[in-house]
Amino acid sequence: MTLLDPKLPQAGLAGSFINGAWHRPADGRTLTIENPSRRAPICEVGRGTATEIDLAVQAARAALPAWRAMAASERGKLLSELGRRLEENAEEVARVLAAESGNAVKTQSRGEAMGAAGVLNYYGGVAVEQKGETLPLGPGILSYSTREPHGVVGSIIPWNSPLQLGAVKISMALATGNCLILKPAEDAPLAILKLVELAEGLFPPGVFNVVTGLGEEAGAALANHPGIDKVSFTGSSEVGKLIAHSAADRIAKVTLELGGKSPTIVFPDAIAEGRLETTAQQVANAMRFARQGQSCTAGSRLFVHKDIWDELMPKVVEKSASLNVGDALDPDVDMGAVVNAERYGEIREFVAEAEALGATFLLGETPAEDPEGFTPNPTILSGVDNTWRIAREEVFGPVMVAIPFETEAEVVEMANDTHYGLAAFLFTHDVSRITRLTRAIDAGWIQVNQGGGQIPGMSYGGTKQSGMGCEYSIEGALEAYTYRKSVTINIESHP
Ligand code: NAD
Repeated sequence: MTLLDPKLPQAGLAGSFINGAWHRPADGRTLTIENPSRRAPICEVGRGTATEIDLAVQAARAALPAWRAMAASERGKLLSELGRRLEENAEEVARVLAAESGNAVKTQSRGEAMGAAGVLNYYGGVAVEQKGETLPLGPGILSYSTREPHGVVGSIIPWNSPLQLGAVKISMALATGNCLILKPAEDAPLAILKLVELAEGLFPPGVFNVVTGLGEEAGAALANHPGIDKVSFTGSSEVGKLIAHSAADRIAKVTLELGGKSPTIVFPDAIAEGRLETTAQQVANAMRFARQGQSCTAGSRLFVHKDIWDELMPKVVEKSASLNVGDALDPDVDMGAVVNAERYGEIREFVAEAEALGATFLLGETPAEDPEGFTPNPTILSGVDNTWRIAREEVFGPVMVAIPFETEAEVVEMANDTHYGLAAFLFTHDVSRITRLTRAIDAGWIQVNQGGGQIPGMSYGGTKQSGMGCEYSIEGALEAYTYRKSVTINIESHP
């Protein structure tokens, strides 16, 4: 097996990091990690199973009493130090991330490495905010509350932005005094293993463990383990439902960050007064073409007011078409590859089905059947009905459907006509309309006149089948990773 990059994680073959040391599965089984831009293997990684999960749970449980007793400021310092190390090594980590995920170094992976460091730094700073409350009951009695960690957290993440999501899971669990077992996705565990290399020797053994493996093996074993007090899952709604079911049996706490089918809505005033170019660019940004559309928040349903359709759509097409598609490691490439053959095939199916139903291509085409790399072009379809599968289900590829609308009421109804409720993008400068629509649209996060990414400090999570709980903020961490303990002391009974 040829190594694509000499700086791949040296510990890859072991895969799992348990109790402060690299651990190779006893049966020697491995997963092959591939570069989707080149359709070529990169390296082998240990394929952990229930055995490794069990070892990791034992280690985490043993480490818990001392870790939760540590001053929050000390835990915060360790997270900030990991953030600093990641910043220092961001370029190297970004290349590994691009090789395994297909997300271009230029537009995505480099930014993701720095963004992940930002998340670690944020939680490093706010760890001290794990504060309780006091109740003024008068003399002789004191009642107060504290925030206690749930205990041992099992976190499972997908491949689309593994480093960013890994940093969120690590930070939220460890800042609040929980110990963690993290299972990265089988397609993209390498950037996380690089992060573990950077974290070696930093946290006490057993506090931060990683087990690489398949979802149905290591993932299911982690979600179902009786020693796991809380499961934090980011991934598809289908797997999220399985996890919620299994956690319910033992009343384990659960946070779910799931899929989306986010609406982008553009009103005529958004392109008035010289704003056409910037609005078209932000609409294209919201679609996340630069991450091949593989973003849970991607604004993949574009609703354009009919009065500006002819003016706006050619510009959105122009901005999207200008992306340079190719090998994610190429420094000039804007948009890389979707993660694997299965995902590529699903995107192909969605587009072919819409084409057969009569959709029109404003940009792109049905992806080729057997490409050299899994690099579909940005695709924009019109003539699509909001009831078609391509308009209702998460394509998770660079495919946007554009649908005209006439009235505000009509577009709100279409935007909400989905079982998802993760994000939405609204383009208008009418303050009354902004106020009405940001209330009326079912979404955990609404961006107005921009199409940006998550911000540390801003609570982020979905409604409906897009999930429960929120992340990226200290408030989210306190709600999701701790419980309130109330203490009432009768002072006067002690003379
Ligand atoms: P997925 O659900 O297939 O896999 C996600 C993770 O779950 C992987 O680590 C996988 O190994 C594991 N897994 C699979 N089956 C499992 C099982 N039975 N038990 C336990 N773990 C199991 O999702 P994916 O296709 O890798 O990721 C894409 C999905 O993630 C999309 O739906 C996307 O919208 C969603 N996502 C959501 C957010 C968010 O914050 N809301 C962020 C990123 C991605």
